[in-house]
Amino acid sequence: MLTRDIRTLTGCREGYLIRVGEHGIADNGQGGILQPRGRWPDGAIAIGYWNEVPVAVLSEPGEEQWLPARHWLGALPEQSFGLISTALQIVRWAQDHRFCGRCGTRMRRRPGEFMMACPACSFRSYPRISPCIITLVTWRDQLLLARSPRFPTGRFSTLAGFIEPGESAEEAVRREVFEEVGVQVGRVSYFKSQSWPMPHSFMMGFYAEAASRDLHIDGVEIEAADWFTADQLPGLPPSYSISSALIENFLRGSATRE
Ligand SMILES: [Zn+2]
Repeated sequence: MLTRDIRTLTGCREGYLIRVGEHGIADNGQGGILQPRGRWPDGAIAIGYWNEVPVAVLSEPGEEQWLPARHWLGALPEQSFGLISTALQIVRWAQDHRFCGRCGTRMRRRPGEFMMACPACSFRSYPRISPCIITLVTWRDQLLLARSPRFPTGRFSTLAGFIEPGESAEEAVRREVFEEVGVQVGRVSYFKSQSWPMPHSFMMGFYAEAASRDLHIDGVEIEAADWFTADQLPGLPPSYSISSALIENFLRGSATRE
């Protein structure tokens, strides 16, 4: 597990290193992403402790053969998920917030916290986290799954979308489901959440009980949607995703009800 006590890492310049490039994350030669302990290069950002050893992330151009983040999320044990997700999001933040969004001056990073401040106007920047809802809509023992044109062939998943300014998560569930598939939902219940570093989403998982069954897909975000039962499921999302957890948890529950 990643321990996030970065206040105690002020001045620390040594430990594990994760190298993040444009195409992915560098292999350490042993099937992992933690480069051997050593002195950190300039530009490395401490993100916490891994098994009590300081760990930092470095953004660099990288090499084409570095494997993409999705590979590592699936290949490494579940407890590495937070480490990978943090590393990717901190790199993205450092890349995208080099200049003040208010006055254009180069930002300076504050040691001991994930914060950058503008020396000219004091504007502060924190890592961007974008809240999203992700929801499995159900009707008795049936699941509503849909596919985006971006998905691999044959894959269907739960519905998801960004929460808009001023909106609650529950309101976003109702709006997204209606916009994407034209279904009105009744009861909405919270399941659990997951950080999703593609590039900085925070997924809040919900179950939503359908109050209507006819589907009207928008044809843009969603190219196909249907009701499925446990014995005729389509291709599903990868096991490390919260959409997979929503589906598997529902199927376990509906199996015990039979
Ligand atoms: Zn400024």
